[in-house]
Amino acid sequence: MNYEESEILSVAERYLGRLQRSGSENVMAICPFHTKAGGAPERSPSFALSVTTGLWFCHSCKEAGNLRMLLKAFDVSSAAIENRYGRLIENLNAHARVTKTKPNRIVLDQGPPLEEGILGFFEGIPLALEDEGFTEETIRHFDVGYDERNMRITFPLRDMLGRLIGISGRAVGECQGPRYKVYAEREYEAWGIPPRHTDKSSLLWNMHRVYPATLFESHTMVVLVEGFKACMWLYQAGVKNVVAMVGSHLSYQQRLLLERIGATVYVFTDNDEAGDVARRRISKELTNALHVRVVEYEGHQPTNLDPVSLLAALEASVDYGRWVMRKGTSS
Ligand SMILES: [Zn+2]
Repeated sequence: MNYEESEILSVAERYLGRLQRSGSENVMAICPFHTKAGGAPERSPSFALSVTTGLWFCHSCKEAGNLRMLLKAFDVSSAAIENRYGRLIENLNAHARVTKTKPNRIVLDQGPPLEEGILGFFEGIPLALEDEGFTEETIRHFDVGYDERNMRITFPLRDMLGRLIGISGRAVGECQGPRYKVYAEREYEAWGIPPRHTDKSSLLWNMHRVYPATLFESHTMVVLVEGFKACMWLYQAGVKNVVAMVGSHLSYQQRLLLERIGATVYVFTDNDEAGDVARRRISKELTNALHVRVVEYEGHQPTNLDPVSLLAALEASVDYGRWVMRKGTSS
């Protein structure tokens, strides 16, 4: 057993309790997320953890993530994770980039990641999101916070390995210029953080949670939405495999990311002009390599739908080929 494996195993023994070996790579445990969600703890283990990658997935509640996220879920502080497991996590990330079967090509180098601790600057729960119906649990799950100095709601930008590579801020109240802004010089300056540029078009928001899930489960699905809020809204409705483009344009890198995970993609864009164009273009682009389903619904955005209607809209989604034919005859 190498250093990484024995370290991951010791984390598992410490935090997950009784383990069952499953194949050469995984251990199974009672899922720690079931009880967190207010449900009864399970009797037979559904929670799988890879001792070689540190990625994990619950076959029952569908939570998924990497080692850092698991430690965080057990309330280990960012500083403690860095001190005790920093080297391990770095090794795992380096390994993920060089393994042939892993999507190394699309983990673009965006410079050294930001320290997780900086999210501590943005700790407040944004009231505006609570007013819109987001629960504190959802807000915390996505590490969304509030930046008092810049008066923006903060959304962490992560690459598919879960490394923090930037911050996007949404202005609260009146603002000049774009409502959403990827932090660069000025915003970081207010917090004493060195300036940096983040290419948001190279990432899919929440992919660091969806990607591990797709490794444990074949024939899986992923819902593609435009923005942070739609992504959080679907998650809150129980759809865990959801990623956001952070805009209405699907970049080349984002398309590669989706192709690499190979899941059926549910295209769930907004119902406005940009969203209509995006729906047509994205579905067409993705259908060369993937199974695509188009989601149609009443309302302007996914956030206008209640959880039941959201799930019904996904259920009623149409196979891309059939959707094109229907469009062709109706217009
Ligand atoms: Zn679970």
